[in-house]
Amino acid sequence: MTQDNIASAVEAELVELSGLLTEPGEHECLRCYLLRMINEFGCDGQHRWTIRWRDLRAPRARGLIGRLQRLGGVCCDCEVLLNVFPDYPDTTSLLPCAGQRQPGSSAPCDLRELRRSA
Ligand SMILES: [Zn+2]
Ligand SMILES: [Zn+2]
Repeated sequence: MTQDNIASAVEAELVELSGLLTEPGEHECLRCYLLRMINEFGCDGQHRWTIRWRDLRAPRARGLIGRLQRLGGVCCDCEVLLNVFPDYPDTTSLLPCAGQRQPGSSAPCDLRELRRSA
């Protein structure tokens, strides 16, 4: 294996890894996904994570971005979090997602349930 081959093998592995890391959980709601991604990778000033979530979890929700923009998530993912999903339990660490309410739904999960049972 030449030096080049090793480098591209490592690169391929990294790409694969970041694909997995940025994949929304099977039932992860949009709010928890955005929190997780912005916490890990930050906001790039666009709807990067919202679009990734929609493509994988709600591919038929074509109007999703427009709807979120009307609700205040005008420019980017962190605005969606701040303005569309302002309710989040007061914690120092992220809570595990309680689960998407129904497939394709962008409504946030109900974390109060989780806290009560914790
Ligand atoms: Zn932002
Ligand atoms: Zn959630």
